[in-house]
Amino acid sequence: MCGIIGYVGARDAVQVLLNGLRRLEYRGYDSAGICISSAEKLHIARSVGKVSALESGPVLKKLYGTVGIAHTRWATHGEPTQENAHPHADCKGEFAIVHNGIIENYAELKQMLIEKGHVFRSETDSEVVAHLIEEFYDGSFEKAVRNAVSLVAGAFGIVAAHRGENKLIAVRKSSPIVIGIGNNEMFVASDPAAIVEYTRKVVYLGDGELAVITPLGYTVKKMSGEKVNKHVDNISFSLSHIEKKGFKHFMLKEIFEQPESVGNVMRGRLKGSEIKLSINVDTRAVRRVILVACGTSWHAALIGKQYIEKYAKIPCEADYASEFRYRDLPLSKDDLVVAISQSGETADTLGAALKAKSHGAKTIGIINVVGSAISREVDGGIYLHAGPEVGVASTKAFTSQVVALFLLALYIRLQNGGLVPEDAISELKQLPAKIDSILDNAGQIQRIASEIKSASSILYLGRGINYPVALEGALKLKEVSYIHAEGYPAGEMKHGPIALVEEGFPVVFIATKDSNYEKVLANISEIRARKGRVIVVADVPGVALEGMADFIIEVPRTIPDLSPILNVIPLQMLAYYTADLKGLDVDKPRNLAKSVTVE
Ligand code: GLU
Repeated sequence: MCGIIGYVGARDAVQVLLNGLRRLEYRGYDSAGICISSAEKLHIARSVGKVSALESGPVLKKLYGTVGIAHTRWATHGEPTQENAHPHADCKGEFAIVHNGIIENYAELKQMLIEKGHVFRSETDSEVVAHLIEEFYDGSFEKAVRNAVSLVAGAFGIVAAHRGENKLIAVRKSSPIVIGIGNNEMFVASDPAAIVEYTRKVVYLGDGELAVITPLGYTVKKMSGEKVNKHVDNISFSLSHIEKKGFKHFMLKEIFEQPESVGNVMRGRLKGSEIKLSINVDTRAVRRVILVACGTSWHAALIGKQYIEKYAKIPCEADYASEFRYRDLPLSKDDLVVAISQSGETADTLGAALKAKSHGAKTIGIINVVGSAISREVDGGIYLHAGPEVGVASTKAFTSQVVALFLLALYIRLQNGGLVPEDAISELKQLPAKIDSILDNAGQIQRIASEIKSASSILYLGRGINYPVALEGALKLKEVSYIHAEGYPAGEMKHGPIALVEEGFPVVFIATKDSNYEKVLANISEIRARKGRVIVVADVPGVALEGMADFIIEVPRTIPDLSPILNVIPLQMLAYYTADLKGLDVDKPRNLAKSVTVE
């Protein structure tokens, strides 16, 4: 959440920072702000809303400098106003900071600082950091930042600037910070996407580390002051991966990338009837698997739970990470906890993985972003290799997560002496081509979108392995089109949600030809009998359902266990086209942000 970028070098920092902010905007767009540091003054410009509003403001046009910091905010404390926008400065305007995360003890710190005479200008938790630096400053910027953050509890990624110093200081606890290495210039950001157009050489700051960054280099130290030698990584993607490549929105581009991303997660992992995973954990001793995740990843977990139980034959739970981490659940070395997160930075999922680890459980991650916090904490894992996901509503990460969970279940089965079912591998391999054929159906889905775009509420129903697909379809629609939507197990419909159904009320069904098919057909009839408007995603020829549905979206047949990967695609498209037809900003839905780094 929130985007941070900093620059020291010889270029026009305003342009570097604005470019970075644009690439980070998916992480938060309540407000944006920039601070350019010069010998005389810290020049701060901030505005409510998107980066474009900041850019068109009068102050920015006059700004020039070669060192600065910038921020795009996802408000946690204080409304999205100009006063609350970052960067925040101290009383005298000597220090400015940008902050990602939450300072849990800000109220006491603020009180203490007010008693010492500091004057606060915002309602944010973040502003205390600028005043603490001011309070501790005795000639050493670095020491002042170190002392300031030693008092701060909570999660933070902070970058600070000091008037007149050609230097930035970055600190990290929980919230990601990456340093970009250039030629006589250095970058710092919360996400490599912000700096990839300038450099691919990066250093990821570890928890509890502080970096002093100048145009000529960087020094990383622990809070104790001890120097840390850091490994230089290469960003694995290029600028073109985070551009829209002719698509109207990132969400649409990412939906259309799924034939490739689903192929990527399998690449090198299917060898004959073997599954090759280097998860670094001996799964033979595992007695229970717990999948922890949030949002869309939790829906993938609900599907994964069924895979683990069926193929690995191990009891499995899928838990919201935010619930799991505060639950008194006995854990032991016989448990395998799988943390699923696209960004690998989701605060609750990271917290859940750390809890599992501290209780002796084995931990693995199913993560897209290489080198992210969760991937560094767990014993091993599976990278999705889906490429950067920029659209706030997750699409390609979901389908890759489901494939990864399927591979994991088969892998554990093999480890325990079982065999991989014959059709599993061949069906996996056919998925990319089948997804492609669904994408060809965009025209039909656009037409359905135009029919539902004025609905105020929609129900999504599925059974068994496709019940989580109903949840995911509803979540996608809710996220981007702001239409209220609920996913339910179709069998539960009669226990409540059917009360919503009246003439014209839209209900989306997932009707896959598996052992639940006839039951789903009965549920469709029940909705028809009440004059509901039925949209069916089915893998049986449309004619078989004719007369039962207002719209039938046909998807190719695969084995039922893999059907969620195909069935979810038209639902992602339906959500996208509905939101687009409503004229909404699909990539930056209201109140949401990518990579939820706060609890
Ligand atoms: N907690 C800070 C605020 O509300 C930072 C939020 C963010 O990460 O964008 O301003």
